[in-house]
Amino acid sequence: MKSIARGVFAGMILTGLIAGTLLLTGAARRQERVLAGLEREKEELSKLRGENTRLRSIQVDTNELLQLRASNAGLLRLRNEIRELRETEEPEGEEAALPALQQAATEQEDLKKQKQALEAIPARSQCVKNLEQIQEAKRLWAVQHQAESGTLLEMGDLKRFLTNQNALICPAGGHYSINRVGAPPACSSPGHAVP
Ligand SMILES: [Zn+2]
Repeated sequence: MKSIARGVFAGMILTGLIAGTLLLTGAARRQERVLAGLEREKEELSKLRGENTRLRSIQVDTNELLQLRASNAGLLRLRNEIRELRETEEPEGEEAALPALQQAATEQEDLKKQKQALEAIPARSQCVKNLEQIQEAKRLWAVQHQAESGTLLEMGDLKRFLTNQNALICPAGGHYSINRVGAPPACSSPGHAVP
């Protein structure tokens, strides 16, 4: 009788051990699944971050444009004010009007500079688009040739990867440098660069 009880007891312990092992294995599998899910989420996140950076750089351009448009309206208003001042000036009031005129002239100069910057924005956007096309063509060329970072290449090498190579001209007259694999292409015009 005693030996049967001992056998039943041993059997219970064994069953418990097997159940415990199965539980632990299940837990490990669940953990693996969670980790794989986290890895996927991390990838999504880094993709989203890249997208966001790009969108922000476009947003900056738009804000700049709106600001400069407002400044341009201010320039026209100032011009009218100066004209009115000149027309309504009395000979004895000339001295009193002088500081106001000087201030207006300074503001006009500032606004002219801002207007020039406004006019330069479309050229820069077009050039950045060109640089992005060159960058993508370089990436494809490097993949196809299994080229490592630092490999030299020329514009002619990219012909097959560009839809219209002749259209890639900087509207501001800048000169393009393809640069080595791994480095971004560049334009000699100031402010023209891939974000
Ligand atoms: Zn350019």
